[in-house]
Amino acid sequence: MQTHLLGYPRIGSDRELKKACEQYWAGKIEADELLEIGKNIALHNWKIQQEAGIDLIPCNDFSYYDQVLDMTLTVGAIPERYQEIASEKSEIDLYFAMARGYQNDGLDITAMEMTKWFDTNYHYIVPEFQKNQEFSLFSNKIIQEFINSKQTGINAKPVIIGLLTYLLLGKEKEEDFDKLDLAQKLVPVYIDILKELENHGAEYIQFDEPFLALDLNEKTKETYQLIYTEIRKQFPNLKFIIATYFEGLKDNLSLATSLPVDVLHIDLVRSPEQLDEVLHIIPHNLSLSLGVVDGRNIWKNDYKKSLSFIEKAVQKIGSERVFVAPSCSLLHSPFDLDSEKNEEILSPEIKQWMAFAKQKVQEIVTLKKLASENPDYSILQELAENRKIIESRKTSTLIHNQNVKNLVNSTTGQHAQRKSPFKIRKKSQQEILQLPLFPTTTIGSFPQTKEVRNWRSKFRKGELNSEQYDTLLKQETERTIRWQEKIGIDVLVHGEFERNDMVEYFGEQLAGFAFTQNGWVQSYGSRCVKPPVIFGDVYRSNPMTVYWSEYAQSLTKKWVKGMLTGPVTILQWSFVRNDQPRSLTCKQIALAIRDEVNDLEKAGIRIIQIDEPAIREGLPLRKSDWQNYLKWAVEAFRISASGVEDATQIHTHMCYSEFNDIIQNIADMDADVITIECSRSQMELLNAFADFKYPNEIGPGVYDIHSPRVPSKEEMLKLLKKAQAVIPAQQLWVNPDCGLKTRHWDETEKALIAMVKASKEASEEF
Ligand code: GLN
Ligand code: ZN
Repeated sequence: MQTHLLGYPRIGSDRELKKACEQYWAGKIEADELLEIGKNIALHNWKIQQEAGIDLIPCNDFSYYDQVLDMTLTVGAIPERYQEIASEKSEIDLYFAMARGYQNDGLDITAMEMTKWFDTNYHYIVPEFQKNQEFSLFSNKIIQEFINSKQTGINAKPVIIGLLTYLLLGKEKEEDFDKLDLAQKLVPVYIDILKELENHGAEYIQFDEPFLALDLNEKTKETYQLIYTEIRKQFPNLKFIIATYFEGLKDNLSLATSLPVDVLHIDLVRSPEQLDEVLHIIPHNLSLSLGVVDGRNIWKNDYKKSLSFIEKAVQKIGSERVFVAPSCSLLHSPFDLDSEKNEEILSPEIKQWMAFAKQKVQEIVTLKKLASENPDYSILQELAENRKIIESRKTSTLIHNQNVKNLVNSTTGQHAQRKSPFKIRKKSQQEILQLPLFPTTTIGSFPQTKEVRNWRSKFRKGELNSEQYDTLLKQETERTIRWQEKIGIDVLVHGEFERNDMVEYFGEQLAGFAFTQNGWVQSYGSRCVKPPVIFGDVYRSNPMTVYWSEYAQSLTKKWVKGMLTGPVTILQWSFVRNDQPRSLTCKQIALAIRDEVNDLEKAGIRIIQIDEPAIREGLPLRKSDWQNYLKWAVEAFRISASGVEDATQIHTHMCYSEFNDIIQNIADMDADVITIECSRSQMELLNAFADFKYPNEIGPGVYDIHSPRVPSKEEMLKLLKKAQAVIPAQQLWVNPDCGLKTRHWDETEKALIAMVKASKEASEEF
């Protein structure tokens, strides 16, 4: 039996890589220094695994920005617009130019697109393919990292994005061709890489092929067979591992087990049932890597459960053919639980249930020892200790709250149902709200200036007391209210100055959430996030936002919109408990948000927005699972929104608005008003709503807040006209694409003044 990892976090135990990259971009350190820091992180990661006793240690899992971009540079798929940089600049500068765009020396080149890595919160850089795309070995990063590992006395296992997965991750930049047809052109480059690796003494190669666990068409399946047969022919002696993760193999089971490779890795955290299926048909010359330790979450492994998988596999195929591993790369886990030293932030009782990357490495090694013929006494003690901890979590009063469970159990369909249908609600709302045609509003946040962030950090450090902090925030809120009144916005917001982050802010006030000090996970490039940990039953003990909304409303005769984050988004952007279904945790959050919505209404807030930007990204990877997810996700939203009177207007907001395939579900959410992102697509995204004859009100964003560029009134008016052409005017709102938190005040002022003018003109012309 062997142990291995699919990959290790690379941001560094103290986010050294983030800091070094940002210093390099700011011109504060030289490239050599950056490269040295990167090399040391990789080295440090290898040492951790070596000392723990991992058999097969990965290399090329390190990256200065993103592993997919690394592969793009490796195979020389450099888009035309970077040619000048490619010929004049160093490899690392070209690399960062592709990742981040390049504005210098009279050049202005856009970055490559970025998108989510499967259903994680990690973003990769999307490869761009042309019809006549050529590939050639351009960067020798993979080989260099292997050589580095050898020099430290490790015969590492290079981790390479599989050829098919690499192509499938990319985007065709021209019409009339299929990126799959590029596979044959890519084979020679893979062969070049493998030749070099073999020459330098590599034994094992890991190809990441997560697409094998997704829905595939026939052509893709055939290409998989073809390509791997071809590669195998050239390298009879290398040992190939195919890594699948994030889903089960399902209908690709026979394809995956028939590929001419040596080891197949499967994710038994996401899809435990596939073990039996795989063992049933596994050919005698294929070994199996069991992904038993969760690479996507922060909970301690349940040894007994993992051992049952391992023992089953050993019984069927023998221990020589079994590998023990985490479910996926540990890229998605924070670095080291030992650096959580502040007991006030993370209590020891909760901490004992957790494991970060470094601890997961140890778990893998321990599992192998436990699965051996005669585990020694100390290892058996570890098993007993693990049982105790797992049991303590099952019964802990920190986690389990009977009131919450009773409340969830007594929730009925009624809770997810507004009192009357939209048509009737609309009338009551109009009577009270008296809004004009094309009402204007914003999505919630106003610029979080340096000062605002500074106040917060001073408050946290105790340099401002809560009274002083409160006064400053109130001043900022009042200024924002006055300013919105002055330029004539119809529905105002308080500006969200009191919030650090739209999930953390609520998590900090809800029971059942814990936070870490250093639980950073890479989101993209140098950006890391520190997701809250939902460890127990969630409930709200006190109002969370009423204070600020009530204050803002007291300042003005205009309507102020209450601002909340929805249950699905809170769930999606946290580490969640693994002892109950996500749907149940989501329902608990929904009930807590519902309490808040009801309290806002009681406080006189008549318009309440429940943001759900993450509803779409929560979609399962397999289409067959979509409806089940959408059913509970939509229900959770409805539970949170349905406690109010007809006359109270519920808004929701979503950032990514490609809703063609789920428009029915979006309509089922039954928000009175939905604001969406539309301007970058020139209102094209609105077509899904138009074709569906979406019945409720919509605010298609008329300008892109992601850019500092100030749009003109004419531009926005044009977009509004475009919207009017497909959606009845009585249904339309006018607003930006998203919150204004990242913008500066001067841009914001100019843009919103023009936006209000556009709305006025549109209604005059109507
Ligand atoms: N209300 C939030 C804001 O304006 C919404 C942010 C989001 O959609 N991501 O900041
Ligand atoms: Zn948004």
